[in-house]
Amino acid sequence: MDDTRVPSYLSPDRLGPWETFLAQIDAVVPWIDPELQPWVETLRRPKRVLIVDVPIKLDSGVIMHYEGYRVQHNVSRGPGKGGVRYHPSVTLAEVMALAGWMSIKTAVVNLPYGGAKGGIRVDPKKLSRDELERLTRRYTSEINILLGPDRDIPAPDVNTDEQVMAWMMDTYSMNEGRTVPAVVTGKPVALGGSLGRHDATGRGVVIIAREIGRRLSLPLAGARVAIQGFGNVGGAAARLFAEQGAVVIAIQDETGTVYNERGIDVAALREYQREQRTLRGFPGAETIDNTQFWELPCEFLVPAALEGQIDAHNAGRIRARVVVEGANGPTTTEGDRILEERGIVVVPDVLANAGGVTVSYFEWVQDISSFFWTEAEIITRLDRILTEAFKTIWEVAQQKRIPLRTAAYVVACQRVLAARAQRGLYP
Ligand code: NAD
Repeated sequence: MDDTRVPSYLSPDRLGPWETFLAQIDAVVPWIDPELQPWVETLRRPKRVLIVDVPIKLDSGVIMHYEGYRVQHNVSRGPGKGGVRYHPSVTLAEVMALAGWMSIKTAVVNLPYGGAKGGIRVDPKKLSRDELERLTRRYTSEINILLGPDRDIPAPDVNTDEQVMAWMMDTYSMNEGRTVPAVVTGKPVALGGSLGRHDATGRGVVIIAREIGRRLSLPLAGARVAIQGFGNVGGAAARLFAEQGAVVIAIQDETGTVYNERGIDVAALREYQREQRTLRGFPGAETIDNTQFWELPCEFLVPAALEGQIDAHNAGRIRARVVVEGANGPTTTEGDRILEERGIVVVPDVLANAGGVTVSYFEWVQDISSFFWTEAEIITRLDRILTEAFKTIWEVAQQKRIPLRTAAYVVACQRVLAARAQRGLYP
């Protein structure tokens, strides 16, 4: 039977990602201020979980039911914020964990948001465009009771894009009887989307690399950079690293790995990839074995593809000075431990890839004020916010002698819990 037809919340073996999140919370509890300790349990319980049935009529006339979710993990600091994922392996536990990580990420960069996430257990590649639109509109209607620019603001995630956001915005607006652009971010620019959103996450990765480079005397100019992933995040990061004078020595994607110790011409590689649909055989570099990628001596290693890429198998062979996590969750707990033992600094995802949610925040602010900024203004503000966030977390890590990841969680959890404590309990 099609696995997406089994309600995920009835399967006891599907707690994986949520358990990981709980373990991360447990790890920071000892560092939380004593007066906030009574509130820690807040982080272990999502505030709201909504499971919805999403029935649609397929083009063939058959009616199909899909399982959808929207989880608000925490809204103490502001409305829920987080993407919507369409994937056959989406489960309630995964959406709960992703919502929890959004609470952490928005607090790390000090955006006035909580954490939320949504998803539908569906393989969107099997749907026609019309079916995808009907699915999106019905899902939006089902979770409508949670949404709103001051309640919960979705964004794109895996397999959802600006078109899906446009349909969500339109559906919500039709229900409201007025146009409400600020209910979602990641929209097309014509509908109130923000300039600079496309590059925002990759740009954030480079800003964060620059900041840690300043602390460790590793200036971007001349630094060797290896990047896994040549998509939205990895592609933009590669281009912007090169613009800063860094030497992008290796790029890996799902088709292969290319390497040139004198630096890869990123624009030429993009052109080659567009034409050939692969990185392999790019004339400006040597095509090397995928496993060799992890062993390349470099200053910055940027995993910007998938989760779980740096693990017990390869962490011992990594020869980078700093790992800047562009992807979400690219380092396993064991991988993290090995890197720490070996003195390789890891800048965690919740900080390193927060450029995306930060520009989403700018989009929301622009929509609410109906006043749109130039790309230069967006870049300047993004740089300021990420630089400040990095400074705070760096200082906590130095003071407490803890890894940057733990420091990021400490800062974020303290902010969430301080808001919770100051608001107090109702009634
Ligand atoms: P994308 O789909 O645009 O690109 C993914 C890239 O990873 C592609 O180049 C693909 O070829 C490569 N890849 C896939 N499987 C691979 C494999 N087995 N080995 C090597 N490379 C592989 O996705 P994206 O938007 O760039 O997202 C990448 C990561 O960054 C994800 O973890 C995502 O959650 C995270 N992230 C993205 C954003 C954003 O704004 N797009 C924001 C925060 C975090």
